[in-house]
Amino acid sequence: MQHIAFIGLGNMGGPMAINLVRAGFSVSGVDLSAEALQHFSENGGKAAASVAEAIQGADVVISMLPAGRHVEGLYLGDDGLIARLPAGTLVLDCSTIAAHTARGVGHAASDAGLRFLDAPVSGGTAGAAAGTLTFMVGGDAANLEAARPLLTAMGKNIFHAGDIGAGQTAKVCNNMLLGILMAGTAEALALGVKNGLDPAVLSEIMSKSSGRNWALELYNPWPGVMENSPASRGYSGGFMSELMLKDLGLAEETALQSHAANPLGALARNLYESHVAEGNGKLDFSSIVNHFRH
Ligand code: NAD
Repeated sequence: MQHIAFIGLGNMGGPMAINLVRAGFSVSGVDLSAEALQHFSENGGKAAASVAEAIQGADVVISMLPAGRHVEGLYLGDDGLIARLPAGTLVLDCSTIAAHTARGVGHAASDAGLRFLDAPVSGGTAGAAAGTLTFMVGGDAANLEAARPLLTAMGKNIFHAGDIGAGQTAKVCNNMLLGILMAGTAEALALGVKNGLDPAVLSEIMSKSSGRNWALELYNPWPGVMENSPASRGYSGGFMSELMLKDLGLAEETALQSHAANPLGALARNLYESHVAEGNGKLDFSSIVNHFRH
């Protein structure tokens, strides 16, 4: 049986690792948060006290960390995983990071004989819990085939975007669009409410009209409209605004490097910059609706 080391058991990594356990894989998980670790072991995972313990005998390493600096810190350097893992180990980084950072880590891993894939995801915490994530994979097609049984245990749609880093480029495009759609949805709902409409009725109308989109239909930002959305639980436990700000920054960086225009992405990044500066960084990104409500 394949043994997996899973590093980063947060809002996304936690449910993803638990789905691997449920699918019958042996999974050692590690996280800096004792709470995350406890939740993982309560759901059948093996809680490891350190990364070194988690990777003991691992055929596969999966990381799900906040940002590029955490990923570089884990894999690079004399003490990093690339220097410690045996050749042939399959390595999947599912974090959302810059494509150039994924290429830096991925090529260093390949040079050391590891089989690296960047495999960022979409679908939110609900998709992570339900095992219905979309994976956008960059790297060698044969490595993707080796990873497919694991990805299938955590997701429903698996795409090969291209070479190492291509998964991250696809993810950055997707999240730039998501940031724009969430801000636009919030603005439209606030306008309707200010003019006397019930947010649930307006959401229903727009969901059946040309304004329909994922943020409106599956992740509604207005409290009480959707029972299971982060908006209905005080904007906790979803996708933090500071992570959306990071992704909009990655989109801007990508646009600058490739001389592409991204005026709407830049506007969304500015909105999230102010929102995070006002102390909302840890709240789910749908809390941007408060910017339009107040
Ligand atoms: P999170 O902050 O909830 O989880 C990250 C976890 O990594 C935390 O529990 C933290 O303690 C742990 N961690 C950090 N450094 C570590 C280290 N050196 N060793 C072990 N553990 C470490 O974030 P999240 O929402 O799970 O997001 C993770 C990644 O997935 C981010 O790149 C994010 O952009 C991306 N993402 C998030 C969502 C979402 O809806 N939350 C959706 C798609 C993609």
